[in-house]
Amino acid sequence: MKNVADYFGCLVFDDRVMKANLSSEVYQSLRKTIDEGARLDLSVANAVAEAMKDWAVSNGATHYTHWFQPLTGITAEKHDSFITPSPDGRVLMEFSGKELIKGEPDASSFPSGGLRATFEARGYTAWDPTSYAFIKGKTLCIPTAFCSYGGEALDKKTPLLRSMEALNTQALRILHLFGNDDVKCVRTSVGPEQEYFLVTREMYEKRKDLMFTGRTLFGAKPPKGQELDDHYFGVIKPRVAAYMEELNEELWKLGILAKTEHNEVAPAQHELAPIYTTTNIAADHNQLTMEIMQKVALKHGLVCLLHEKPFAGVNGSGKHNNWSMATDKGVNLLSPGETPYENAQFLLFLCAVIKAVDDYQDLIRLSVATAGNDHRLGANEAPPAVVSIFLGDELSAILEAIEKNEPYKGTKTKTMKLGVDVLPKFARDTTDRNRTSPFAFTGNKFEFRMLGSSNSISCANIMLNAAVAESLKIYADRLEGAEDFETALHEMIRKTIKDHRHILFNGNGYDESWIKEATEERGLLNYRTTPDCMPHLLDEKNVKMLTAHKIFSEAELKSRCEIMLENYCKTVTIEANTMVDMARKQTLPAVEEYAFAVAQTAKAKKEVSSEIACAYEKNAVAKLSLLADQIAVKTDELEKAVFTLKDAATVEEESYAIRDTILVKMAELRAVADEAENMTAQKYWPFPTYADLLFGVK
Ligand code: ADP
Ligand code: MG
Repeated sequence: MKNVADYFGCLVFDDRVMKANLSSEVYQSLRKTIDEGARLDLSVANAVAEAMKDWAVSNGATHYTHWFQPLTGITAEKHDSFITPSPDGRVLMEFSGKELIKGEPDASSFPSGGLRATFEARGYTAWDPTSYAFIKGKTLCIPTAFCSYGGEALDKKTPLLRSMEALNTQALRILHLFGNDDVKCVRTSVGPEQEYFLVTREMYEKRKDLMFTGRTLFGAKPPKGQELDDHYFGVIKPRVAAYMEELNEELWKLGILAKTEHNEVAPAQHELAPIYTTTNIAADHNQLTMEIMQKVALKHGLVCLLHEKPFAGVNGSGKHNNWSMATDKGVNLLSPGETPYENAQFLLFLCAVIKAVDDYQDLIRLSVATAGNDHRLGANEAPPAVVSIFLGDELSAILEAIEKNEPYKGTKTKTMKLGVDVLPKFARDTTDRNRTSPFAFTGNKFEFRMLGSSNSISCANIMLNAAVAESLKIYADRLEGAEDFETALHEMIRKTIKDHRHILFNGNGYDESWIKEATEERGLLNYRTTPDCMPHLLDEKNVKMLTAHKIFSEAELKSRCEIMLENYCKTVTIEANTMVDMARKQTLPAVEEYAFAVAQTAKAKKEVSSEIACAYEKNAVAKLSLLADQIAVKTDELEKAVFTLKDAATVEEESYAIRDTILVKMAELRAVADEAENMTAQKYWPFPTYADLLFGVK
């Protein structure tokens, strides 16, 4: 085996390669663009393009693509080859700065929510030089943003970059107030932990529901599920270990810092965590990781399921978005400091997050809303749909002491004056874990745990960055105008704690009583489904905040709301149609066939002796017939319900019909079909069972 250090990042046009292949002038100029967002000269772009192409060709690339993230949530690419005809009838490999900076994919088939009239269907892509280009297969991939000709963002990267910029602007104002004049930039970092399931390809291909929808729509509970918790952190099976090994190698070649891997709670469930990095790079890397996870699985005869809820009754998959803010000097702003001033600064940033998450609970919630994730949130296995913050006992006690002007154990003075007194050192207690909190402070970062496993992390981070930028702006406005900085600071922190303490919760988020307390006593929002929360994207306060920070235009927000709801409707409709298809073409024939076989047995027995009662057969045939009738009825009802969806006047109306009718009918059909599965002999059942799928990978 080769040494990882030797091949790590070998497929990335990273800083090391740039330095080696660009003149020092071009390199400096590009660095300025990457680090400070300076405009790139066309002559510099040409030189970079040339070097990039030479490097890519020498590494086997023949094509290039502007790699982008349309609103479908997956990544998109259109490949162009480098070849240009030369006068002697042969070809040259060429790539210009213009081609590097801007591309024009024919994008009329990407969802735009009405942003782009079809006559100007050609959106354009623009290079994001802060995320390194890389080679995938034989293609040089250039990370890009994707916009319409009117300049509206048609992707997830553009608003993510804008949100990072908004947070940077406001955080710098605060840092300068604290005298940190040398800080030039603040960036958010993310380490997303990714959960997934592995099933064998052979079984996967026998299940239309997995193939068409990514999750099982039928399936009786197996005799053994996750009851014993014997899978979590258990020994990794050889086939899975081989998969993880190759996955790591492929990710490392792409410069992705895959670090930790282990089995998860459910059988066949696993997790991969990278080392954290700058948010837009983390988002690109997570998209790539999901793609490569699926690709490598196929090579091992496996299929990687990224759906949030592939199996009913078994834990679903999520993504934990570990998030922090740091300066270009390497200071983590969510790390408690050493001096009184550093501590006050830490508390201010901490408060900014608390205020942000409370003021924009709705945006935080809807940023992770999809049809798939609706199955997880609030199902006693993932954080509830109610957003709350876990701070741990010690930090909570400190905040309480500040709010009440009371002494805190360990402080010398009676009460603490921020910026003057030294805060007590609170140890980062790694055992102080609350895995049920949607938004947990874990010592020097927040872990946002509501994301679905297939979500792009961009959406969550856009809203988080935006909301925190808004808190910081409000703070900066007040502090910049304050007569006495320290007093104003102290009062502001106290006020934040007082105003937002209702969102702080250290208890068990899975507990039914918490939902009651959260909604009835604390007045927190509880949007259970995508149709419940998504329309709030267009609430006046949200539009005002997001447009003020130039993260979205109003038109972009409208289009996104529409696309997200459309996506929800399409996803569930495909599921419903798949159920109808499976029930009619597979389940019913299987039940009938088995009932026939049982009846034949009874007939044969009677021929032997009319005395034989055939009680078992009679009973079984009667039960199977009844179930077959019920399956047929429920299938018809579901089909009819889907048919009436076309009457909905708006996509919002359609989404409500899906929430209230289609999903209910689907559950009813499933219940009778699963009962029939339990009644039918195994060899008659037309597709692999839960036991086969969950324990099939050896
Ligand atoms: P823990 O086990 O305490 O959650 P880990 O070290 O396992 O912490 O980290 C989990 C994830 O959080 C990893 O992806 C890690 O890179 C990421 N992470 C750690 N520190 C930070 C930070 N300061 N900002 C963002 N992500 C971080
Ligand atoms: Mg974690």
